[in-house]
Order: sequence, then structure tokens, then C-alpha cells
Amino acid sequence: MVKVADLWQRVDPDARRVLQELSGEGPVPVGGIARALGIEVKVSALGPGKSGMIQRSGNTYVIKLNRFESAERQRFTLAHELAHFLLHRDIIDASPEGITDNVLYRSGAPEVVEYEANALAADILMPRDQVRSKFLEIGGRISDAAISACAEYFRVSKGAMEVRLDSIA
Ligand SMILES: [Zn+2]
Repeated sequence: MVKVADLWQRVDPDARRVLQELSGEGPVPVGGIARALGIEVKVSALGPGKSGMIQRSGNTYVIKLNRFESAERQRFTLAHELAHFLLHRDIIDASPEGITDNVLYRSGAPEVVEYEANALAADILMPRDQVRSKFLEIGGRISDAAISACAEYFRVSKGAMEVRLDSIA
């Protein structure tokens, strides 16, 4: 079982600070965070079955997102690739192609690597304290409407928010 607090411990303190400073009220500006960390973000036609990828490009990194997927999905994929950048740079650097994730966020890397990236991505997009306070603000009771309202506010899918609310409510 991966604890998200342990994952944050592995993140470079400077990067952690950037994330904290840029995640305030409202939807987390995950694109702005990536760029603040020096990552180039591109939206392109990645080919069928692929959601996103991250690779080294000279002295920096580039994340590509599948432009045919929904905005919420692209946000989650961006957070997932960002999590690979924060946690798994050795794996990215080990191949010129970096890491490419299919629609199930599988890349050929060990399962735990993808699990870690998904857990950190969820925590980046849906910061626990902010989700809790939004949830309380709208009544603090799990319902379809509450899940929708929180999902819309944080600009994530309802499925992702449902899992999140279950873990904090
Ligand atoms: Zn991945």
C-alpha cells in the first residue's frame, strides 16, 4: 500500500514549494505548475490508445497529451505525467522515448510506478484540505449532486472525485 505522504517525501523540496504556491483556491493550475517546473506541455495527436507521455528534451522535459481526450482527462493525464517527473525521473531518462502511458495509464514500467503516479496525480489535482473544505461548504454529505459539484469545481472527472470524497468524507 502506497502512502501519498511518503510519495511527497520523495519530491524535491523546491518542486514541492512550487506546487504549494500555485495550488490555491479553485482548480489546480496543473499546466502552469508544469511550466513553472520547466516542463513544456504539448497537446497533440498521440495515436490511438495513448493518453500521454513524458520524455527528456535536451535539458528539459516535454509532456504530450492526447488532444482527442476530454479536458478533464487531459488534466488528469498531465498530473500523472507530472507525477512521473517528480518521482520517476530515472525511468524517464533511461530511454530516449521516456514514458508513454496508454489509456489505462500503463507504460511498461512496473505496476507500482503507475500506482504511485496515479496516487500523486490525484493528490495534486484534488488537494485533500481544499476538497474537504469545498465538500463541507456544499453540505458535507455524499450525493450525486455533491460529487458533481466538487468534480466541476476542481475540473476532474466525477469518477475521480467520487473516489476522493470516499477517502475523506
Ligand atoms: Zn504512467
